[in-house]
Amino acid sequence: MIHEDQSRYQRQNQQLEDQTKADVVKPLKDHVAQFGRLAHQEWVNAFGSTDAKADDALKLASYKATLKGHLAAAPSSQSADIARAVEKGHALGTQQTIEQIDDPSRRVVQITTPNRTAKQISKVNDNVSSALDDAGSYIDLLGDDAEFEELTPAFASASSAVTSLDRSVTWFVNQAISYAVTKVSNGAGLGQVFIGERDACLDCNSNVGKTSDKGFDGPPVHPNCRCSVAPWSEDWTPDEGPSYPEALEREANRSVLKGWSGSDSNTARLAAADRLLEAGTKLPASVQQSARRAIKTGAFAGT
Ligand SMILES: [Zn+2]
Repeated sequence: MIHEDQSRYQRQNQQLEDQTKADVVKPLKDHVAQFGRLAHQEWVNAFGSTDAKADDALKLASYKATLKGHLAAAPSSQSADIARAVEKGHALGTQQTIEQIDDPSRRVVQITTPNRTAKQISKVNDNVSSALDDAGSYIDLLGDDAEFEELTPAFASASSAVTSLDRSVTWFVNQAISYAVTKVSNGAGLGQVFIGERDACLDCNSNVGKTSDKGFDGPPVHPNCRCSVAPWSEDWTPDEGPSYPEALEREANRSVLKGWSGSDSNTARLAAADRLLEAGTKLPASVQQSARRAIKTGAFAGT
Protein backbone atom coordinates (compact mmCIF):
# COMPACT_ATOMS: atom_id res chain seq x y z
CA MET A 1 0.00 0.00 0.00
CA ILE A 2 1.65 3.20 -1.20
CA HIS A 3 0.15 6.54 -0.26
CA GLU A 4 3.06 8.90 -0.75
CA ASP A 5 2.19 9.08 -4.42
CA GLN A 6 -0.99 11.14 -4.06
CA SER A 7 0.61 14.40 -5.16
CA ARG A 8 1.98 12.61 -8.21
CA TYR A 9 -1.52 11.29 -8.96
CA GLN A 10 -3.05 14.73 -8.56
CA ARG A 11 -0.44 16.04 -11.01
CA GLN A 12 -1.38 13.28 -13.47
CA ASN A 13 -5.05 14.22 -13.06
CA GLN A 14 -4.22 17.87 -13.70
CA GLN A 15 -2.26 16.91 -16.82
CA LEU A 16 -5.22 15.02 -18.26
CA GLU A 17 -7.46 17.97 -17.47
CA ASP A 18 -5.03 20.43 -19.09
CA GLN A 19 -4.58 18.24 -22.15
CA THR A 20 -8.34 17.90 -22.55
CA LYS A 21 -8.75 21.65 -22.29
CA ALA A 22 -6.08 22.20 -24.93
CA ASP A 23 -7.93 19.79 -27.23
CA VAL A 24 -11.54 20.70 -26.45
CA VAL A 25 -11.78 24.19 -24.96
CA LYS A 26 -8.98 26.07 -26.71
CA PRO A 27 -10.45 25.86 -30.24
CA LEU A 28 -13.71 27.40 -29.00
CA LYS A 29 -11.86 29.94 -26.86
CA ASP A 30 -9.79 31.03 -29.87
CA HIS A 31 -12.90 31.21 -32.04
CA VAL A 32 -14.70 33.41 -29.51
CA ALA A 33 -11.65 35.68 -29.14
CA GLN A 34 -11.61 35.98 -32.92
CA PHE A 35 -15.31 36.85 -32.83
CA GLY A 36 -14.53 39.81 -30.57
CA ARG A 37 -11.75 41.04 -32.84
CA LEU A 38 -13.88 40.56 -35.96
CA ALA A 39 -16.83 42.43 -34.43
CA HIS A 40 -14.54 45.32 -33.62
CA GLN A 41 -12.65 45.42 -36.90
CA GLU A 42 -15.71 45.05 -39.14
CA TRP A 43 -17.54 47.80 -37.26
CA VAL A 44 -14.63 50.15 -37.83
CA ASN A 45 -14.50 49.15 -41.51
CA ALA A 46 -18.24 49.70 -41.98
CA PHE A 47 -18.95 52.78 -39.87
CA GLY A 48 -15.57 54.46 -39.33
CA SER A 49 -14.99 53.90 -35.60
CA THR A 50 -16.51 52.13 -32.61
CA ASP A 51 -17.81 55.52 -31.47
CA ALA A 52 -19.82 55.81 -34.68
CA LYS A 53 -23.40 54.58 -34.95
CA ALA A 54 -24.50 51.99 -37.49
CA ASP A 55 -26.05 54.60 -39.76
CA ASP A 56 -26.14 52.56 -42.96
CA ALA A 57 -28.80 49.84 -43.09
CA LEU A 58 -27.14 47.84 -45.88
CA LYS A 59 -23.77 47.86 -44.18
CA LEU A 60 -25.39 46.89 -40.89
CA ALA A 61 -27.16 43.92 -42.51
CA SER A 62 -23.88 42.75 -43.99
CA TYR A 63 -22.09 43.30 -40.65
CA LYS A 64 -24.67 41.19 -38.83
CA ALA A 65 -24.42 38.42 -41.43
CA THR A 66 -20.61 38.31 -41.09
CA LEU A 67 -20.77 38.02 -37.32
CA LYS A 68 -23.49 35.39 -37.36
CA GLY A 69 -21.58 33.42 -39.97
CA HIS A 70 -18.56 33.41 -37.70
CA LEU A 71 -20.62 32.18 -34.74
CA ALA A 72 -22.17 29.45 -36.88
CA ALA A 73 -18.67 28.18 -37.73
CA ALA A 74 -17.72 27.71 -34.05
CA PRO A 75 -16.29 24.28 -33.13
CA SER A 76 -19.20 22.10 -32.06
CA SER A 77 -18.18 18.51 -31.28
CA GLN A 78 -17.20 18.97 -27.62
CA SER A 79 -19.40 16.14 -26.29
CA ALA A 80 -17.63 13.46 -28.31
CA ASP A 81 -14.23 14.81 -27.25
CA ILE A 82 -15.26 14.93 -23.60
CA ALA A 83 -16.60 11.37 -23.79
CA ARG A 84 -13.15 10.28 -25.01
CA ALA A 85 -11.43 12.24 -22.22
CA VAL A 86 -13.71 10.53 -19.70
CA GLU A 87 -12.53 7.15 -20.98
CA LYS A 88 -8.95 8.32 -20.49
CA GLY A 89 -9.91 9.41 -16.97
CA HIS A 90 -11.25 5.92 -16.29
CA ALA A 91 -8.00 4.39 -17.55
CA LEU A 92 -5.92 6.77 -15.41
CA GLY A 93 -7.97 6.13 -12.25
CA THR A 94 -7.78 2.40 -12.86
CA GLN A 95 -4.02 2.48 -13.32
CA GLN A 96 -3.49 4.59 -10.19
CA THR A 97 -5.67 2.26 -8.14
CA ILE A 98 -3.89 -0.88 -9.31
CA GLU A 99 -0.55 0.70 -8.40
CA GLN A 100 -1.77 1.50 -4.91
CA ILE A 101 -3.43 -1.82 -4.25
CA ASP A 102 -0.11 -3.49 -5.02
CA ASP A 103 -1.64 -6.96 -4.96
CA PRO A 104 -1.94 -8.62 -8.39
CA SER A 105 -4.33 -11.28 -7.09
CA ARG A 106 -7.14 -8.74 -6.64
CA ARG A 107 -9.80 -8.55 -9.30
CA VAL A 108 -9.68 -5.50 -11.62
CA VAL A 109 -13.11 -4.42 -12.84
CA GLN A 110 -13.60 -2.82 -16.25
CA ILE A 111 -15.01 0.72 -16.12
CA THR A 112 -17.65 1.96 -18.55
CA THR A 113 -19.28 5.38 -18.59
CA PRO A 114 -22.59 5.29 -16.70
CA ASN A 115 -25.66 6.25 -18.78
CA ARG A 116 -26.41 9.19 -16.55
CA THR A 117 -22.93 10.63 -17.14
CA ALA A 118 -23.12 9.97 -20.89
CA LYS A 119 -26.38 11.92 -20.96
CA GLN A 120 -24.85 14.81 -19.04
CA ILE A 121 -21.89 14.85 -21.42
CA SER A 122 -24.18 14.94 -24.45
CA LYS A 123 -25.79 18.09 -23.04
CA VAL A 124 -22.47 19.97 -23.15
CA ASN A 125 -22.84 20.61 -26.90
CA ASP A 126 -26.37 21.92 -26.32
CA ASN A 127 -25.16 24.30 -23.62
CA VAL A 128 -22.40 25.64 -25.86
CA SER A 129 -24.77 26.03 -28.81
CA SER A 130 -27.42 27.78 -26.79
CA ALA A 131 -24.92 30.31 -25.38
CA LEU A 132 -23.72 30.99 -28.95
CA ASP A 133 -27.34 31.22 -30.14
CA ASP A 134 -27.95 33.81 -27.44
CA ALA A 135 -24.97 35.77 -28.76
CA GLY A 136 -26.55 35.55 -32.23
CA SER A 137 -29.88 36.86 -30.90
CA TYR A 138 -28.18 39.95 -29.51
CA ILE A 139 -26.69 40.57 -32.94
CA ASP A 140 -30.18 40.24 -34.45
CA LEU A 141 -31.37 42.95 -32.07
CA LEU A 142 -29.04 45.58 -33.58
CA GLY A 143 -31.30 48.11 -35.32
CA ASP A 144 -30.90 51.40 -37.17
CA ASP A 145 -28.34 53.67 -35.54
CA ALA A 146 -27.20 50.90 -33.22
CA GLU A 147 -24.11 51.58 -31.14
CA PHE A 148 -21.13 49.28 -30.75
CA GLU A 149 -21.80 48.99 -26.98
CA GLU A 150 -25.01 47.14 -27.79
CA LEU A 151 -22.84 44.16 -28.66
CA THR A 152 -21.67 43.81 -25.05
CA PRO A 153 -24.26 41.12 -24.17
CA ALA A 154 -23.33 39.21 -27.35
CA PHE A 155 -19.69 39.14 -26.23
CA ALA A 156 -20.75 38.08 -22.73
CA SER A 157 -22.87 35.19 -24.08
CA ALA A 158 -20.08 34.00 -26.35
CA SER A 159 -17.60 34.08 -23.43
CA SER A 160 -20.03 32.19 -21.24
CA ALA A 161 -20.00 29.35 -23.80
CA VAL A 162 -16.24 29.06 -23.20
CA THR A 163 -16.50 29.35 -19.42
CA SER A 164 -19.18 26.69 -19.15
CA LEU A 165 -17.26 24.33 -21.45
CA ASP A 166 -14.10 24.84 -19.41
CA ARG A 167 -15.98 24.07 -16.20
CA SER A 168 -17.58 20.96 -17.74
CA VAL A 169 -14.21 19.56 -18.78
CA THR A 170 -12.81 20.02 -15.26
CA TRP A 171 -15.88 18.34 -13.82
CA PHE A 172 -16.10 15.35 -16.13
CA VAL A 173 -12.39 14.52 -16.19
CA ASN A 174 -12.01 14.62 -12.41
CA GLN A 175 -15.29 12.81 -11.89
CA ALA A 176 -14.16 10.03 -14.27
CA ILE A 177 -10.92 9.53 -12.33
CA SER A 178 -12.66 9.36 -8.93
CA TYR A 179 -15.31 7.09 -10.36
CA ALA A 180 -12.71 4.63 -11.63
CA VAL A 181 -10.75 4.69 -8.36
CA THR A 182 -13.98 3.99 -6.46
CA LYS A 183 -15.21 1.20 -8.75
CA VAL A 184 -11.86 -0.53 -9.08
CA SER A 185 -11.16 -0.41 -5.34
CA ASN A 186 -14.68 -1.61 -4.53
CA GLY A 187 -14.25 -4.41 -7.07
CA ALA A 188 -11.08 -5.42 -5.27
CA GLY A 189 -12.92 -5.49 -1.95
CA LEU A 190 -11.50 -2.18 -0.69
CA GLY A 191 -12.97 1.11 0.46
CA GLN A 192 -11.83 4.68 -0.23
CA VAL A 193 -10.34 7.62 1.60
CA PHE A 194 -11.04 11.24 0.64
CA ILE A 195 -7.97 13.33 -0.23
CA GLY A 196 -8.05 17.12 -0.41
CA GLU A 197 -6.44 19.15 -3.14
CA ARG A 198 -3.86 21.75 -2.13
CA ASP A 199 -5.76 24.74 -0.70
CA ALA A 200 -9.01 22.77 -0.62
CA CYS A 201 -12.09 24.76 0.38
CA LEU A 202 -13.55 24.33 3.87
CA ASP A 203 -16.35 22.12 2.57
CA CYS A 204 -13.91 19.68 1.00
CA ASN A 205 -11.51 20.00 3.92
CA SER A 206 -14.21 18.63 6.23
CA ASN A 207 -14.26 15.44 4.11
CA VAL A 208 -10.49 14.93 4.08
CA GLY A 209 -9.45 11.70 5.77
CA LYS A 210 -13.03 10.38 5.83
CA THR A 211 -13.33 6.79 4.68
CA SER A 212 -16.13 4.97 2.91
CA ASP A 213 -16.89 1.43 1.80
CA LYS A 214 -19.08 2.39 -1.14
CA GLY A 215 -17.62 5.66 -2.39
CA PHE A 216 -18.31 9.33 -1.76
CA ASP A 217 -20.69 11.71 -3.47
CA GLY A 218 -17.77 13.16 -5.45
CA PRO A 219 -15.13 14.37 -5.80
CA PRO A 220 -15.68 16.70 -7.51
CA VAL A 221 -17.79 18.16 -4.73
CA HIS A 222 -18.29 21.52 -6.45
CA PRO A 223 -17.19 23.17 -9.73
CA ASN A 224 -13.39 23.33 -10.04
CA CYS A 225 -12.90 20.85 -7.17
CA ARG A 226 -9.75 18.80 -7.72
CA CYS A 227 -9.90 16.68 -4.61
CA SER A 228 -9.50 12.95 -5.15
CA VAL A 229 -9.99 9.55 -3.57
CA ALA A 230 -7.60 6.66 -2.97
CA PRO A 231 -8.20 3.02 -2.11
CA TRP A 232 -8.25 2.31 1.60
CA SER A 233 -8.81 -0.70 3.82
CA GLU A 234 -9.03 -0.82 7.61
CA ASP A 235 -6.54 -3.71 7.30
CA TRP A 236 -3.94 -1.13 6.38
CA THR A 237 -4.16 0.60 9.78
CA PRO A 238 -0.67 0.44 11.30
CA ASP A 239 -0.19 -1.10 14.75
CA GLU A 240 1.31 2.14 15.97
CA GLY A 241 1.01 5.77 14.98
CA PRO A 242 -1.73 7.45 12.98
CA SER A 243 -3.34 5.66 10.05
CA TYR A 244 -3.19 7.32 6.64
CA PRO A 245 -6.75 8.75 6.95
CA GLU A 246 -5.93 10.06 10.43
CA ALA A 247 -2.79 11.74 9.12
CA LEU A 248 -4.78 13.33 6.32
CA GLU A 249 -7.44 14.60 8.69
CA ARG A 250 -4.80 16.03 10.97
CA GLU A 251 -3.26 18.00 8.09
CA ALA A 252 -6.72 19.21 7.05
CA ASN A 253 -7.42 20.39 10.59
CA ARG A 254 -4.08 22.15 10.71
CA SER A 255 -5.08 24.01 7.54
CA VAL A 256 -8.34 25.08 9.15
CA LEU A 257 -6.58 26.39 12.26
CA LYS A 258 -3.98 28.20 10.13
CA GLY A 259 -6.72 29.75 8.02
CA TRP A 260 -5.44 28.18 4.81
CA SER A 261 -8.25 27.81 2.35
CA GLY A 262 -8.23 28.52 -1.34
CA SER A 263 -11.60 30.14 -1.76
CA ASP A 264 -13.50 30.81 1.46
CA SER A 265 -14.05 34.23 3.01
CA ASN A 266 -12.11 35.33 6.07
CA THR A 267 -15.34 35.12 8.10
CA ALA A 268 -15.99 31.53 7.01
CA ARG A 269 -12.39 30.53 7.78
CA LEU A 270 -12.53 32.09 11.24
CA ALA A 271 -15.86 30.34 11.94
CA ALA A 272 -14.42 26.98 10.83
CA ALA A 273 -11.38 27.40 13.08
CA ASP A 274 -13.69 28.31 15.94
CA ARG A 275 -15.87 25.21 15.38
CA LEU A 276 -12.82 22.97 15.27
CA LEU A 277 -11.38 24.38 18.53
CA GLU A 278 -14.82 23.96 20.09
CA ALA A 279 -15.02 20.32 18.94
CA GLY A 280 -11.52 19.67 20.27
CA THR A 281 -8.36 18.73 18.41
CA LYS A 282 -5.06 17.06 19.24
CA LEU A 283 -3.04 19.54 17.20
CA PRO A 284 -0.10 21.22 19.00
CA ALA A 285 -0.99 23.88 21.56
CA SER A 286 0.94 26.52 19.59
CA VAL A 287 -1.27 25.96 16.53
CA GLN A 288 -4.40 26.15 18.66
CA GLN A 289 -3.18 29.30 20.37
CA SER A 290 -2.48 31.11 17.12
CA ALA A 291 -5.96 30.12 15.90
CA ARG A 292 -7.50 31.57 19.09
CA ARG A 293 -5.54 34.75 18.49
CA ALA A 294 -6.80 34.88 14.90
CA ILE A 295 -10.41 34.51 16.04
CA LYS A 296 -9.91 37.26 18.61
CA THR A 297 -8.26 39.71 16.21
CA GLY A 298 -10.39 38.71 13.23
CA ALA A 299 -7.43 37.85 11.00
CA PHE A 300 -5.09 34.90 10.55
CA ALA A 301 -1.37 35.58 10.82
CA GLY A 302 0.12 36.38 7.44
CA THR A 303 -3.20 37.15 5.73
ZN1 LIG B 1 -12.59 19.67 -3.35
